[in-house]
Amino acid sequence: VGPEVVKTEREVRERVAQARAEGKSIGLVPTMGALHEGHLSLMRRARADCEYVAISIFVNPMQFVAGEDFARYPRDLAADARRAGEVGVDLVFAPEVEEIYPPGDSTFVEVTGTLVEGMCAPHRPGHFRGVTTVCARLFNIFMADRAYFGEKDYQQLQVTKQMVRDLKMPLEIVAVPTLRELDGLAMSSRNAYLSPGERTAATVIYRALIEARRQFERGERVAADLVASATAIIAAEPTARVQYVELRDAETLALIERVEAPVVLAAAVFVGKTRLIDNVVLREGAPG
Ligand code: AMP
Repeated sequence: VGPEVVKTEREVRERVAQARAEGKSIGLVPTMGALHEGHLSLMRRARADCEYVAISIFVNPMQFVAGEDFARYPRDLAADARRAGEVGVDLVFAPEVEEIYPPGDSTFVEVTGTLVEGMCAPHRPGHFRGVTTVCARLFNIFMADRAYFGEKDYQQLQVTKQMVRDLKMPLEIVAVPTLRELDGLAMSSRNAYLSPGERTAATVIYRALIEARRQFERGERVAADLVASATAIIAAEPTARVQYVELRDAETLALIERVEAPVVLAAAVFVGKTRLIDNVVLREGAPG
């Protein structure tokens, strides 16, 4: 038997209240569907930590910028529900847009400051406001104890943590490491857009990040040199175009010049028409 699939806030509140009445802790994994092993690793982690595991599947229009892939984003609820069931998810919430954004709504949630000054933010104006708004609404519907986010979307993770801290939301954000294909490409729903040639070219992103990490491990501490090295490797791949490569403080996402505390080396790259992101965290003495 698969998980129960519901489409309304009312049904979620009923199911969660029932689980609470049974004394269960609640875990939430927000997704946009097109589930892959990366998503499933979040669900497995939630399953290990929590007694009742819910996921949401909602292609959130508010986090897509005009001209992006909202309309053609892959959607397959039946396959997603089956996959979620295989890892023991109890509840799938797959609302229509109006359930989350009813006509006449006018309250939105926005994190400001250094977290949203760089990386994806300037290239996707309004994106993080869409992410935090949908997460705030989902968190209020589920009232979960923990919500699980992938480090693959590193800026999203930090922005969401900041929102939870600032708004004093009573849940814990749990970060889950990036799951990769055997050749290193970070798993992503958008990898489905890649042609076979582009799929091969896309491996350049992680190769560039780990080459920079090797240089860091050999003692390189100058941010510009680490960024230049990764950028050059990606630029050598004709099918790839760098949107940004940035080295930032791993917590504040402030730009840095020298690596003195943990940092994130993050990249966004167009492979053909498909925009992919990835990152690695560099810290002293961490195993590579
Ligand atoms: P999405 O459906 O793309 O919005 O992703 C839903 C959640 O899964 C987010 O917290 C992502 O960071 C996470 N996620 C996506 N890809 C991966 C991956 N390769 N490894 C770990 N988590 C991931």
